[in-house]
Amino acid sequence: MGGWAIVVHGGAGVDPRLPEERQAAAKRILARCLEIGAAALSAGAAAVDVVEMVVRELETDPFFNSGRGSALTARGTVEMEASIMDGRDRRCGAVSGITTVKNPITLARRVMDFSPHSCQAIHGAEECAVEQGVELLENDYFITDQNLAMLKLAKEANAILFDYRVAADTCGASAGAAMSFDTGIQMNGLPISVYAPETVGCVVVDSTGGCAAATSTGGLMNKKCGRIGDSPIIGAGTYACDVCAVSCTGEGEAIIRATLARDVAAVMEYKGLGLQAAIDYVIKERLDGGKAGIIAVGKDGEVGYGFNSNGMFRGCATEDGFMEVGIWE
Ligand code: ASP
Repeated sequence: MGGWAIVVHGGAGVDPRLPEERQAAAKRILARCLEIGAAALSAGAAAVDVVEMVVRELETDPFFNSGRGSALTARGTVEMEASIMDGRDRRCGAVSGITTVKNPITLARRVMDFSPHSCQAIHGAEECAVEQGVELLENDYFITDQNLAMLKLAKEANAILFDYRVAADTCGASAGAAMSFDTGIQMNGLPISVYAPETVGCVVVDSTGGCAAATSTGGLMNKKCGRIGDSPIIGAGTYACDVCAVSCTGEGEAIIRATLARDVAAVMEYKGLGLQAAIDYVIKERLDGGKAGIIAVGKDGEVGYGFNSNGMFRGCATEDGFMEVGIWE
């Protein structure tokens, strides 16, 4: 047994020209989350409790694309999604189309623990939230001025996805190409894409070797109402079993097609690869040109991550005192 470990991400859609102070702010939030998680793990907390606790923290902070600060639909509303999985018994809970729940990850946890179902969406999920007594707020609470400005620009460019690919990327066929730097579309004098907020996730192995994963998001800016991404889909955006725990970020449609999170575990189980080798393998072999990032932990305390975007907001901490946060390769 290699001791506890925690990895956290704040999305993979980051641009190299992200202003220094924004980079520093992102790292500060990730470090704070790692400290919260590490303290709980040192005190003997279970992996599933820690991933929920850390993702709640990220949902409450408006910096990233989850909870408050979520990306907006084409109608200017927020439709949040989240999922959680406990690898000890492969129980899971997921929610989608959430408009009033302050911490969607906690609703996903309640679905896992108290609902007869694994996934609940829209009205049924909101009813479950009321029954379960989780904190509810008006949809306005989740909408930030920055995201309203981004939605306006996304609409003008008729783009849904504009933050995983930058002009230097040769995959110009994506919708994101419409927002390349050559368009001159800027906010505060900088290309809009440097401001893109990102999905959050956390994976943990606790001191008993139990693994858990959690992911939460507002989805993609200017998405169609009712669009469901990878984040609430078990096996795509989130997966945990007795071997590892995985959370993904990036182009949801590509992640769904790749069953990306489950494939990391499957490659370990069926091909016998180690954690990092499994991550590298699925990023290379399974994404078919899609852009994504992965964080993962293994049951023996290994940590791993990988991405084929420009960067990924992420950090990790382990029981032996190691801790780091980073954005680029
Ligand atoms: N994967 C998320 C989605 O497609 C977005 C993200 O990771 O930033 O909804």
